[in-house]
Amino acid sequence: MSDLQFMELALTLAKETVGQTSPNPVVGAVLVKNNQVIGLGAHLKAGEPHAEVHAIRMAGEKAKGATLYVTLEPCHHFGRTPPCCDLIIQSGIQKVYVATQDPNALVSGKGIEKMKQAGIDVEVGLLEEEARKLNQVFFHFIQTGLPYVTLKAAVSLDGKTATYTGESQWITSRASRQDVHHFRHTHDAILVGVNTVIKDDPRLTVRVSDEVKPAVRVILDTSLRTPLGAKIIQDHEAPTWIVVGSEVTSEWIRHFTDLGIKIIQMNSKHIPIQDMLSHLGELGITSLFVEGGAEVLGSFLKERHFQRVITYIAPKLIGGSGAPTSFAGDGIANIDEALSLEIEEVCQIGPDIRIVSIPKWG
Ligand code: NDP
Ligand code: ZN
Repeated sequence: MSDLQFMELALTLAKETVGQTSPNPVVGAVLVKNNQVIGLGAHLKAGEPHAEVHAIRMAGEKAKGATLYVTLEPCHHFGRTPPCCDLIIQSGIQKVYVATQDPNALVSGKGIEKMKQAGIDVEVGLLEEEARKLNQVFFHFIQTGLPYVTLKAAVSLDGKTATYTGESQWITSRASRQDVHHFRHTHDAILVGVNTVIKDDPRLTVRVSDEVKPAVRVILDTSLRTPLGAKIIQDHEAPTWIVVGSEVTSEWIRHFTDLGIKIIQMNSKHIPIQDMLSHLGELGITSLFVEGGAEVLGSFLKERHFQRVITYIAPKLIGGSGAPTSFAGDGIANIDEALSLEIEEVCQIGPDIRIVSIPKWG
């Protein structure tokens, strides 16, 4: 196998852990000697050993003189585990291929430097683009302090999200709705507007397996109108956080906190998206999946704070000038003010189509 193929293997290992390592990145490592794999590993969960550690432990004494392929720069500082750089140096590894540097400006390049100083031959940049893409959430969070935001909409072929009477369940197929769970699973939090809670009473849980860490459910609710009887308040299946404006009284808030709900109160009367995102970032939310409704999606569009849009299109025609579309808000007067996106992927999910697109600034 070639260097490229060994790095591809390391990337595949990392890819399989997307959604389970937050707030840490996904990382894969492959250790090779005489063209034979002698160790491999992935970082499975925050607090557990890093990918390199698994690979080196597996190889034992054989690591001496071997070549390591690792998808992210090995750490050189003490976190919850000792630095991988030291272990790499101690184990006698001769050559290290690093796909991409650590995005954290404070430590970026330092691990590489340390290994070089110890006499290891280090090469950076093999499959770099793939490695950066795999960790795009982590890179975005480290560089901005804000969660990576994915907007989701499910529409009919004519762009409607409901009939003129407001009926919206279900426009897309069961297969698409199941697919949504995969995205919920790969985000730290799921967000909706209070009207969606009032109208649909959703659970917003991740139903992929019992093993997964539940995503936090976040509601934007300026005046704390969320019904106390809503499933999201009562079911305790995942943490629920409600973002409220400055005018909600502490007395009213207590009704919710008594039920174990976390209230994030803004300093302003309304909820500016950027401020809300920085609060979530400070609370350790590295990625956010925004599921609607139209008002909330309209606000994200207006403030232009998102990195990806996922649209499910069902082959149905609903019609009706009063039937809602996926993004509300004030809209724009001229076409040249429209936001341009680049389509990253189009695929069929059951009878529907899923389009993943990235805003041009993203
Ligand atoms: P939303 O669910 O988007 O909730 C909007 C409300 O959220 C606002 O009226 C506001 O109420 C509150 N809010 C607080 N802060 C903000 C902010 N910064 N920006 C926007 N809203 C904010 O309401 P919609 O009526 O647009 O959508 C609800 C409908 O959408 C439901 O019928 C639901 O079925 C449908 N839906 C469809 C989906 C689909 O993919 N097809 C997905 C999700 C929902 P306040 O001022 O009181 O805080
Ligand atoms: Zn490490």
